[in-house]
Amino acid sequence: MSDFVYSPSQIAVRDEARTFVRDEVPRQLLLDMDAETLRYPREYIQKLAGRNLLGLRFPKEWGGRGLDWAHEVLALEEVGVLGASLACLFSLPSIVGEAIHVFGTDEQKEKYLKPVLAGELTVAEALTEPRGGSDFFGATASAERDGDYYILNGQKRFIVGAEGADLFMVYARTHPDAPGRKAISALLVKRGPGLEVQHVYGLMGTRGGGTGRVYFRDVRVPVANLIGHENGAFEIFNQMMIPERMTSAGGALGLARAALEIAARYADRRKAFGQKIREFEGVSFKVAESLTRLDAARALVHETARVIDSLGNSGYVRRMVSESKKFATETAWAVVNDAMQVMGGIGYTNVYPIERLLRDARLMMIWTGTNEIMNLVIQHEYYRDLLAGTSSARDVEADAANADAEGEKVYE
Ligand SMILES: Cc1cc2nc3c(=O)[nH]c(=O)nc-3n(C[C@H](O)[C@H](O)[C@H](O)COP(=O)(O)OP(=O)(O)OC[C@H]3O[C@@H](n4cnc5c(N)ncnc54)[C@H](O)[C@@H]3O)c2cc1C
Repeated sequence: MSDFVYSPSQIAVRDEARTFVRDEVPRQLLLDMDAETLRYPREYIQKLAGRNLLGLRFPKEWGGRGLDWAHEVLALEEVGVLGASLACLFSLPSIVGEAIHVFGTDEQKEKYLKPVLAGELTVAEALTEPRGGSDFFGATASAERDGDYYILNGQKRFIVGAEGADLFMVYARTHPDAPGRKAISALLVKRGPGLEVQHVYGLMGTRGGGTGRVYFRDVRVPVANLIGHENGAFEIFNQMMIPERMTSAGGALGLARAALEIAARYADRRKAFGQKIREFEGVSFKVAESLTRLDAARALVHETARVIDSLGNSGYVRRMVSESKKFATETAWAVVNDAMQVMGGIGYTNVYPIERLLRDARLMMIWTGTNEIMNLVIQHEYYRDLLAGTSSARDVEADAANADAEGEKVYE
């Protein structure tokens, strides 16, 4: 890998995460999670916290390291080799923490962000409802004000950590009539009376992360647990989608890298027709193609990290984040799929972890906003810039012999 493009502190964080992943995550943990004999690996989260690896971007004051995205994406890639569940559990403090850090009060940071980063409170984010995830602002879970409390009712599904998290970040309607973008609030909800979890899914992959359905029945949430202002979740959602999608993108790089390494090594050992299979162009070109895709995805993710570090949030940031999420997850899918092809039949068995990585990779194109939703954001933000007419670039449309044939430029 091209270490020379990273700063010494980036390399140190990457190596720390790499060492953690290598030495402190037992193989049995992955197997138990995949077999779902373990439903929620709380100890893993606490171990990460013990190494101060959670929420790297948040200030030291709250238990983070005050680093930037350029550092976090390197750690994410390392954790990504463990597969989607463990990468997601590593990421949740970064995702939920973003909302608390950017929009929360100091009291909320003291009470929630600090313990989350210390591994004393585990978190989940509850956005998706049975009626739909993409149409997020159509959410119907409701929180009605009753004095110093909100009374929360409704249900959320596909919530990673539902089975084990202590704290849920929940989006719910606090205005019955206004359009969704002006009607939803973000609340911090502790596990307690009225909150019930059901384990209703058999998942193709990404198992052992405690994914389930959460019911809220007259849950009393203190008004002090409102993040930002009432009906102000639109802005929080937009901000939270940066870590939400960047963590998917960063994790996908690690997952793809792991699968590619397994397949490339295999191709160097396995023989057919009297020679190593990597000597067949059909095999070695798959390795070359995968490497190229992976390096391109990594470059995009790192470029996006730098853009976020410089701009914070903007239409351009949203476009880059969406491109990264889409491209890195599609790359992971293609790379793992080709890795399985390179391995032949044995790749389809549980003698190698390729089949588990493939099952995990499939989800990445669906969660944290489907890749179709990424396309919506990408083209929307592109057109917004294009049509703003602020470009200082050459007018290339005029570089045609008959460019002045205005009568031929018919648009309607
Ligand atoms: C294992 C797992 C873990 C998850 N973890 C969490 C979690 O922790 N927290 C959480 O809140 N959610 C979580 N999710 C939910 C996930 O983010 C949603 O499943 C995803 O956003 C899609 O929502 P949906 O399933 O309701 O599909 P729908 O929104 O119903 O979409 C169905 C299809 O329609 C397409 N579509 C919808 N609208 C458009 C449009 N405007 N243009 C083009 N295509 C469109 C979609 O791309 C998709 O292909 C998880 C999901 C899974 C499976």
